[in-house]
Amino acid sequence: MSKNRFSWKSFLSSADELVDLLSVSKIDFLTRLGKQVLPEGFWGEVSLEAEGSENDLPVVYLTFDDGPDPRTTPYLLEVLEEANVKATFFLIGSQVARHPELVEQIARHGHELGNHSYNHCFMPMLLSRDLEKEIADTNERISEITGCPPPVLFRPPYGLMDQRAADCLKERSMKAVYWGSAPEDWSQPGSHRVIRRVMWRVSQGTLIVLHEGHLLGHQTAAAAKEIIYRCKNLGYRMAKVEMRA
Ligand SMILES: [Zn+2]
Repeated sequence: MSKNRFSWKSFLSSADELVDLLSVSKIDFLTRLGKQVLPEGFWGEVSLEAEGSENDLPVVYLTFDDGPDPRTTPYLLEVLEEANVKATFFLIGSQVARHPELVEQIARHGHELGNHSYNHCFMPMLLSRDLEKEIADTNERISEITGCPPPVLFRPPYGLMDQRAADCLKERSMKAVYWGSAPEDWSQPGSHRVIRRVMWRVSQGTLIVLHEGHLLGHQTAAAAKEIIYRCKNLGYRMAKVEMRA
């Protein structure tokens, strides 16, 4: 019997790799474009700081959008605690109102809380007063629950906002946080492919965006765990995004 040299397994795995490469290239292109056309904000690149031995390590920022969500947040908190890593959670106001106990838990664990709008709308389409309300209401809910000053970080839904939103942030001394590595985990490619897409792009100051929510629980927690492990092995320090003057 002749040996069949064709392997579906390796063919499918090469196809997966190609899709991942296209995804990463697309996000790279959108990042370059976004840096040119979007209002000023944090894209993750920072120079190495020399404020003591720990801070001499190159840094990678881990962020989670769209929570809090009972299907993901508790598992993420566990993963982060086990790894002794602090991350940044960009929370949706309506989810905050539904799950205040999770907001408390995130804050209690020492993670940074950011604003991700109240209804996750496409902000450039909103009237100015509605846009402002999206930001203000979310800040208010989070602050009420934590008893701390309102968040200073804002990540626009879908990564997009205009100058009106930038002005609104400025009035509140807030800062826009965009993305660096966005592995399109929302399309549920599976944790191993989320990990591969992220690790292809990791370098000093990479701002990683993962998502919470519907159907993403296991994928996000598993990906976060492995990404942290691999980044640490490469010598990176995992950090939360913090406001810098
Ligand atoms: Zn989002």
